[in-house]
Amino acid sequence: MNRKYDAVIVGCGVAGCFTALHLPKDWEILMITKSAKEESDSFLAQGGICVLKNDMDYDAFFEDTLRAGHYENRRESVDIMIRESRTVINELIDYGVEFEKEDGKLRYTREAAHSTNRILYHEDITGKEITSKLLAAVEKLSNVTLLEHTTMVDILCRNNACDGLLLQMEDGTLEPVFGGHIIWTCGGIGGIYENSTNFPHLTGDALALSLRHGIELEHINYVQIHPTTLYNERKERRFLISESVRGEGAVLLDKNGNRFTNELLPRDVLTGEIRKQMAKDGTKHVWLNMMTITDLDITKRFPNIYRHCLEEGYDVTKEWIPVVPAQHYFMGGVHVDRYSHTSMRHLYASGETCCNGVHGRNRLASNSLLESLVFARNAALRMAEMDSDHSGARTPRFADTMDMNLEELKQVYQIVVNTEDLEAFAEENKRMIWDEIHRLDAE
Ligand SMILES: Cc1cc2nc3c(=O)[nH]c(=O)nc-3n(C[C@H](O)[C@H](O)[C@H](O)COP(=O)(O)OP(=O)(O)OC[C@H]3O[C@@H](n4cnc5c(N)ncnc54)[C@H](O)[C@@H]3O)c2cc1C
Repeated sequence: MNRKYDAVIVGCGVAGCFTALHLPKDWEILMITKSAKEESDSFLAQGGICVLKNDMDYDAFFEDTLRAGHYENRRESVDIMIRESRTVINELIDYGVEFEKEDGKLRYTREAAHSTNRILYHEDITGKEITSKLLAAVEKLSNVTLLEHTTMVDILCRNNACDGLLLQMEDGTLEPVFGGHIIWTCGGIGGIYENSTNFPHLTGDALALSLRHGIELEHINYVQIHPTTLYNERKERRFLISESVRGEGAVLLDKNGNRFTNELLPRDVLTGEIRKQMAKDGTKHVWLNMMTITDLDITKRFPNIYRHCLEEGYDVTKEWIPVVPAQHYFMGGVHVDRYSHTSMRHLYASGETCCNGVHGRNRLASNSLLESLVFARNAALRMAEMDSDHSGARTPRFADTMDMNLEELKQVYQIVVNTEDLEAFAEENKRMIWDEIHRLDAE
């Protein structure tokens, strides 16, 4: 394997793919993913992706995002996301992404806390539609090497500059790799929770390494719980019942079949309402009635949800389904500036793993795919721009260390991973994040 790349991307969800697609085509790029390439949360997104549908909607989109985020959002980031949304959507369409249309025009749907319809979607598998098309485009690039089942276990840093990564390869061996620019697009933290809609291998590895290496974090206790995931007795990834189901008219019921709340409240508020109702009723779930969706054919609008529920023994066209809140999304993360740059030189982060302040304390539904794409693109453009100075791989700052073996590297770099017991190290990482979240919550 090559040791030296112009850029190394950790993760191949939407943020990783979009970064790769916007970096210069004459750069050598390495992209790694901890699991199989389709196993990212980007593939799981159901509901859709927001867009500024016309200039008239700017103020309302901005206000909805801020209101959902309890006005703790970074306004500059929200502005960037909204203004660049149409460019990103047009690019997705150019990559072959198909969004739902009506009379030849894009159809916009609505989800909780949106004051109007501004969400594009593809059935109820929007994430799969977008990510599979982007991944296919990345795989066509001859300058990108994608390695599956390859895990970043540490970074190679000195003097607050990141020179590269230490990787655990598919065969278990450890390999160093160097990059002019490194970007973390490692997704969320659901893997540290017992109940989550996320893939279990998404354990916030970039956060743990940040804690260990003194890289700035932001609001890592801002964790979103999704109000409606399908309840069952088993301990496994919770299946999401998308917000757009409620947006299209499904209602929540208590144990007696009575409606108890406004289904379109912001997620955190609705989660509170559901938990209160469960406590009052002494139940482990509430009910969701999709039969109140009368304008649409549920089996066509939500085919994935329909199929999955059927497999679990529920026909949503004929009966209610049990739903329960579960960990879903992570608003906090590795602190980045408007260019997706972290507090460590040559190290960037985008997507769910970073915090650029777009979401504030709580994410507005369907803003995260958009935020990931907008800021991944900007990170790539920034890296290309920065390469005109001395930082890039073309005049490598790591020329002195590139050929060293692991023991020699340990003398130069601040390597924190326990190379003798990677499993114990990974468990300790999870605990560190958990403790930090609880410490902040207690403040
Ligand atoms: C069920 C579900 C439904 C959703 N629905 C919507 C929706 O409708 N609209 C919306 O906007 N958002 C939605 N989201 C959120 C959205 O999907 C994510 O926020 C977004 O896809 C994150 O993209 P990402 O590229 O940052 O991370 P991911 O897509 O999660 O990718 C992370 C990548 O990093 C890799 N990785 C992690 N750690 C390491 C490591 N140590 N070494 C190597 N690789 C590593 C992973 O293997 C993976 O490839 C949903 C999320 C879920 C779970």
